[in-house]
Amino acid sequence: MKGDMQSWTPNIAGIIEHANKVFPDVEVVSKLVSGETHRTNYGEVCIRSRKLASALEKNGYKEGDILATLALNSYRHLEIYYGVSGMGAVNHTLNFRLHPDQAVYIINHAEDKIIFCELPFVPLLESLQDQLHSVEKFIILCEKDELPESSLKNTISYEEFIEDGDEDYSWPQLQDDAACGLCYTSGTTGDPKGVLYSHKSTVLHSMTAAMPVALDINRKDSILMVVPMFHVMAWGLPYFAPMNGIKIVMPGMQMDGPSLYNQIENENITMAFGVPTIWMQLLGHCRENNLKLNSLNKTLVGGAAVPVSMIREFDEEHDVTLVQGWGMTEMSPLGTTNIITDEMLSMPKEERYLLQAKAGRPIYGVEIDIRDEEGNSLPHDGEAYGNLVVRGPWILQRYFKADHDAVDENGWFDTGDISSIDKDGYMAIVDRAKDVIKSGGEWISSIDLENATVGHPEIAEACVVGLPHPKWDERPMLFVVTNTGNDIEKQSILDFLNDKVAKWWLPDEIIFLKELPHGATGKLQKFELRKEYNNHYMEK
Ligand code: ADP
Repeated sequence: MKGDMQSWTPNIAGIIEHANKVFPDVEVVSKLVSGETHRTNYGEVCIRSRKLASALEKNGYKEGDILATLALNSYRHLEIYYGVSGMGAVNHTLNFRLHPDQAVYIINHAEDKIIFCELPFVPLLESLQDQLHSVEKFIILCEKDELPESSLKNTISYEEFIEDGDEDYSWPQLQDDAACGLCYTSGTTGDPKGVLYSHKSTVLHSMTAAMPVALDINRKDSILMVVPMFHVMAWGLPYFAPMNGIKIVMPGMQMDGPSLYNQIENENITMAFGVPTIWMQLLGHCRENNLKLNSLNKTLVGGAAVPVSMIREFDEEHDVTLVQGWGMTEMSPLGTTNIITDEMLSMPKEERYLLQAKAGRPIYGVEIDIRDEEGNSLPHDGEAYGNLVVRGPWILQRYFKADHDAVDENGWFDTGDISSIDKDGYMAIVDRAKDVIKSGGEWISSIDLENATVGHPEIAEACVVGLPHPKWDERPMLFVVTNTGNDIEKQSILDFLNDKVAKWWLPDEIIFLKELPHGATGKLQKFELRKEYNNHYMEK
């Protein structure tokens, strides 16, 4: 028997329309390419999104067209999120730090018709345009008089493009499960793969993400969105912030420690979203200049493992609670969060920090399990670890344009992460399956070893890679960046690690680097180090 309630085919434009009615004056603040601070609000963002949607329709664009952005976090990018998806087209966010060959592959694979491009990325597109087969128009995110001289064909400024758009445009009723956004995985192994989100999956994800047991978003918060809008829809923030009437502040190009610190203090930021490397820079700046983070209450950190030392420093030096989140492009992205509970607050601090260093518990809607190589479920006892599988309403079924599903017959998607789950439901990432180090038949977690190493007072960042070894199959090699950039005694690192990890986990070699290779989304590019040092132990 069917229920008697109304059928629901959401259009995400309903979110910005809601914000327009209920929170029209809530601010949207962007640091522009010029360095200027631009202020608008949800009321204006809504009207300008309507104008964009209407202008797109007038120019012949229609439902199902894929329109890309190559853009920073800014109010215009937010308008594109709503204008493009709301009129039924697909908002494809391109990562501007991609290797040009990958960008060409992705744009052609997606068959993007328009690229909305931020001024600094015009030269990149100029160099690629002859290889782009589907792009008809380049809309440059600037005023009419800021449009640069360019060899790009068919360019127009964003402001001129939306000028004739209709302020009273009304959004279409969409098909059930209509697509709204497209994001490609970073493709560290093989070609990047597209994940095509739907309006329904996006709305459900956003509603759940904001819940008190998930990210605990509060109407009074004002959020610094450091996580880029090109990466997994900025973790859903561009949707759940307007849904809940929360001020968003966007840092633009300036993401160094001093710029982030000033923006947090000037805008009274209470919550900040970003990957661990960003917060290392912020904490480093505060440490060196004896500064406190005064308004900030919480940081939401995900995308890579979070060291205990970072959790401790935020808490003890700044009274800021670090909330860890785990997820992936294929999951919209949120799977688990580690929100502080009353039980945690009653624990001794160091015990709490260890629990906070776990990836957290699944949010409502997401199921997680761990499996052995034969696909059998492993016990949730905090000890056993295996392949982490997930399923839920905002987890992909198949990759964009693939001819087969990416999930098993019961809908489980294999994340490629190795994890444990304890009896209270807390999941801890042991490693990426491809990064775990197999030494003498046992496993070493590169993440645990890295996290232990960055607790050393003179070390800023660490990366551990398993390299082929004639006797043990693989042995760990540790790469470190010190606070000062100068080498320190290797023995002091080994002594420091001695009581923190098993003896056989200690790295056979330590290499000092000036910086570690990071990918476009802040993840360590371990394959680069593996490639360079691959034969190190074999040749000894
Ligand atoms: P990619 O496109 O590289 O897959 P994603 O952002 O989708 O980029 O990356 C997802 C992966 O990032 C996860 O599978 C996991 O390995 C890693 N990751 C995300 N959050 C965390 C976390 N809190 N702790 C450890 N690893 C994480």
